[in-house]
This record gives sequence, C-alpha cells and structure tokens, in this order.
Amino acid sequence: MANYPKTMKALVAYSKTDYRFEGAYPSPECGDDDIIIKTEACGICAGDLKCQHGAAMFWGDEVQPSWVKPPFIPGHEFLGRIVDMGKNVTGWKIGDRVTADQIVPCGECRFCKSGKYWMCQPHNIFGFQTANNGGMAEYVRYPKTAVIYPVPEDLPLEKALLIEPYGCSKHAVDRGNIQCDDIVVISGAGTLGLGMVTYAALKHPKALISLDMDDKRLAKAKEFGATHIFNPGKRDIQKEIEALTDGYGCDVYIEATGHPSSVIQGLGVIRKLGTFVEFSVFSAPATVDWSIIGDRKELDIYGSHLSPYCFPFVIDGIASGALKTDGVIRTILKLEEWEKGFEYAAGKYGDLKVALVP
Ligand SMILES: [Zn+2]
Ligand SMILES: [Zn+2]
Repeated sequence: MANYPKTMKALVAYSKTDYRFEGAYPSPECGDDDIIIKTEACGICAGDLKCQHGAAMFWGDEVQPSWVKPPFIPGHEFLGRIVDMGKNVTGWKIGDRVTADQIVPCGECRFCKSGKYWMCQPHNIFGFQTANNGGMAEYVRYPKTAVIYPVPEDLPLEKALLIEPYGCSKHAVDRGNIQCDDIVVISGAGTLGLGMVTYAALKHPKALISLDMDDKRLAKAKEFGATHIFNPGKRDIQKEIEALTDGYGCDVYIEATGHPSSVIQGLGVIRKLGTFVEFSVFSAPATVDWSIIGDRKELDIYGSHLSPYCFPFVIDGIASGALKTDGVIRTILKLEEWEKGFEYAAGKYGDLKVALVP
C-alpha cells in the first residue's frame, strides 16, 4: 500500500492555452525502481514561463515539431522528502530531503554511457512530459535513472530552491574557463546571471563585469561580487569595456539574457581569441556576422546546458554562504495562486525567482 494519497493538488498543462490547477489529480505510482517525494516547493523557471506563453520551441510550429508531451505537470526546480520507495531502491530512506538534476537520463545512449548524461539523446526532462511530471504538484516520481542528491536538513527553503538554477550557473561559468588575470563580462543579472556572478567571483578574475537593463539587479550583482556594473540602456558598453581593457576587449563573455542584442554586444566587446559562452534560450533566432567569430577574432564559442555534476558543490556553497543568495527568492506562493506566481516570475514587480508551494 502506498504511503501517500491517491490524488493530489497539481498544476497541469493540457495544451499551450490550457493550464489548469487540479485539486484531485492522480498521484504518481511508485514502481519497483521509483522514489516518490512530497514536494516542499518548486521554483518557476524562465523556461516554464516561455512554455506557458506557448513558445514554438516547446509546442512546435510550421518549422519545428512539438517537444512537450501533454498533459504534464511543469517545474524542474523542486525539492522534497521521500514518502515512498520501490523494493529495488537502495541508499535512501523515507523522510530524506532530496533534490534532482533536471534531466532524467536514459542511462543507455552514447552520451549517458560516456558520463555526459546531461546531453542524453532521448532528453527526458522533469516538467515537460507526462512520463516525467514536474514539481508543481504535491508528489513527484523520481525514476530509477534520476540523478538525486541529499539536501541539508537545515538549509532554508528559499536557499534550497536555488540549487538547480545555481547548478546551471556554475556549469556555464565553468565552460568559460576563467583565469585569474581575465576580465569577465556576464551579460544578464537575473537569477541565473546572479548565480554566475557569485560563483565566478570565487575564481577571483581581474575584473567581473555585470550587465543588465535593470539597476536593481545590477546592485544585487555588485553585492554578489561584481567589480563593475553597467546598464547598456544608459552607458556605451563597448566604450566602458575598451576603457577597462586597454582597448582589447574582455577575455570571457558569458551571455545570459536571452536577447539577441546581447549576443551582438558580446561579439563586439570580446577580445580576439576570447571565449564566448552562450547559456540563454532565445525566443527568436539571433542573427550575427559570423565573420567576427572566424576571420576577425578567432573566438572560442562554447554552449552551456543544464547542471552536470554541479549539485554537490552548489549545495555546499549555498549552505556555507560562499554562494550568495540573499533576496533572490522573496515571493513564495501557494500552488493555487500559480497565475499570480507566473506573473511575478516574469519580473513585473521586481522579483527575481518566484516559487510555488503545493
Ligand atoms: Zn530552470
Ligand atoms: Zn541517455
């Protein structure tokens, strides 16, 4: 007999125009290899917002096929406590506080077998398909291959909710391979950009420059370790960075805004032979002059996806305070208020990360 109710509260996406709060949605079933957790809370990601707004990259259009598999329960930034386990599960016990990587690796493809599980070929992710329902519900099923980590008992919820986003931040910064004498630009000071700033600061680059159109976010970036902050809406970024680099340009540019203009800006302010890291998800293609990348600057361009092997460091860093989190989550609402939550998460009222409690 299961240790949890047969139905639960859940936000369910039936189609791109039909997201519904359900008071008695079927709870996940616990198979022999599964773990069931009771959700403590779930953060709202920009991806969840884009999906709810009907973005083509999720729901498809004339040029791309639909990627989501409705009905599904959104949310991949969640944690909770184990309430049930299948008979084959070892290493965990009922009551353990846990979280998991966003990806649910297949364990069998070429990428999984070579340790590159975050690029798993089938690419199942929590919160976008029926088979891997996400954290905007009272109960979530972790299948056998889920990458699960313990969360310290005394880690406050508003900090623990940043484990997944900061994991993604860490991976993006690691891709930039920052050296002590580098001048680093991180474009975008939302939750992910701030996570990048606080982590990159631990690497003590020569200068750490945060760019954002919002001065409040820039102030937070300064608090989190940025040595310089600039608002591209008010300052000539090209000039500012040239002044700081004897006219050469920055060594590393990490793009975390999701706006094509930030890509063009980055290609302009980066030095020859520099390192450009692309983290964002764009709602429209970014059109740039590729001759800058090859002929003019011979750049190293790196992509960054998810948070492979990042959780242990991030959990320790958040718990010790080495990674700064103050004020990133200030709004936690009930799941019933998801519409309000999504609205707040869009940044309308100055919020960075917003979370829902089922
Ligand atoms: Zn996310
Ligand atoms: Zn795989």
